[in-house]
Amino acid sequence: MTSLEQSGPAADDLVVPFQIEGESVRGRVVRLGPVVAEILDRHDYPEGVASLLAHALTLTAMLGTSLKFEGKLTMQAKGDGAVRTIVADYRTPGELRGWVAFHQDEYDAAVAKGVDPGREVPQLLGGGYLAFTIDQGPDTERYQGIVGLEGGTLAECAQRYFESSEQLPSAVKLSAAKVDGAWRAGGIIVQHLASPGFQQEAQDEPWREAAILMASTQDAELTNPSVTPERLLFRLFHERGVRVFEPQPLGVFCQCSRERVENILDQFSAEEMADMVVDGKITVTCEFCNTTYEFDPPAAA
Ligand SMILES: [Zn+2]
Repeated sequence: MTSLEQSGPAADDLVVPFQIEGESVRGRVVRLGPVVAEILDRHDYPEGVASLLAHALTLTAMLGTSLKFEGKLTMQAKGDGAVRTIVADYRTPGELRGWVAFHQDEYDAAVAKGVDPGREVPQLLGGGYLAFTIDQGPDTERYQGIVGLEGGTLAECAQRYFESSEQLPSAVKLSAAKVDGAWRAGGIIVQHLASPGFQQEAQDEPWREAAILMASTQDAELTNPSVTPERLLFRLFHERGVRVFEPQPLGVFCQCSRERVENILDQFSAEEMADMVVDGKITVTCEFCNTTYEFDPPAAA
């Protein structure tokens, strides 16, 4: 446990779990610095698209760090707007990756009309769904939970997901911003601990108070490197008493390699491979990390 009043060096790329003393409320603060900058810098996404992916990575880290087993958690948002697909992966014990597919013309048109940060889901993603998939490996069945894109922001959609799929009253806040030219992101979630009578308990005063306090979190408190998660939690909940647990560090990963791409290419026929040749080469780019692999076309038979 960490002392709440101590404000140490900038705390980055970690998740801090916490529990409000004496109450059935728990939560997590996510703080992303170099990790989100590295993932976003590998792509050339426009600002609104990069910001959506930063929110998605924060949300995925928030959920992934609660997994009690080894595996992978994938968040996928599919829309019919300018932004078609957002994918964010979390792999235990704490690694992230992600990518976005979007239509540049439709995005430019949306921006020209003006995108309201509180309505970015309907204005950029449009109608569709948000899915969370948990994969514990080849011998285990996958678990998938889905909710419609029915909130103004990814945080609101996630809140609905928790309430419908997990029956956990939850409040979620996500934020992303460029600070001194580098992307940063952060988020906070508070949840009412699961119990059989949750419907009635959802009205509980302590829970409502925690949710209201949490809602007072400013965007800058989630992204500013000089505000540590401990300091934020102290400001929000010190009157109730808050217990902070060991932070969980976060990093970046990708699963691509030349060998993996080769294995995929091996599944195509010589004819299909011939169709892939551009300027005498077959070029494959990893959607996640934007690494490009070049191959010579198979020798003509
Ligand atoms: Zn990759």
